[in-house]
Amino acid sequence: MGITRESYCSWCFEYASHELHEPRKLRRHLYQCKRCGNFTVKCRYCRNMARSLPNDWQERQASQGRFKNMKMKWNHELCAEHDGTIASFAHLSDT
Ligand SMILES: [Zn+2]
Ligand SMILES: [Zn+2]
Repeated sequence: MGITRESYCSWCFEYASHELHEPRKLRRHLYQCKRCGNFTVKCRYCRNMARSLPNDWQERQASQGRFKNMKMKWNHELCAEHDGTIASFAHLSDT
């Protein structure tokens, strides 16, 4: 398959390719950043990618028993720009 989209990543803050990951198993389309390897979802308000799950979430889940399902604290709907983490992706790459 290899469906990818080019967008800013809220994990590594780079403009990168995001590959569609198991689209049928999850309610929202989950992508994986090819640069940092973490999982992303499309931001609710723009074309950038929001943080979904870290790439080692299964290990974290195993070591931290209180996370019983995939609803973890990284599961955001907003990109780093819209959740206020950074002012602007474009400005970051300028500097
Ligand atoms: Zn990334
Ligand atoms: Zn956004």
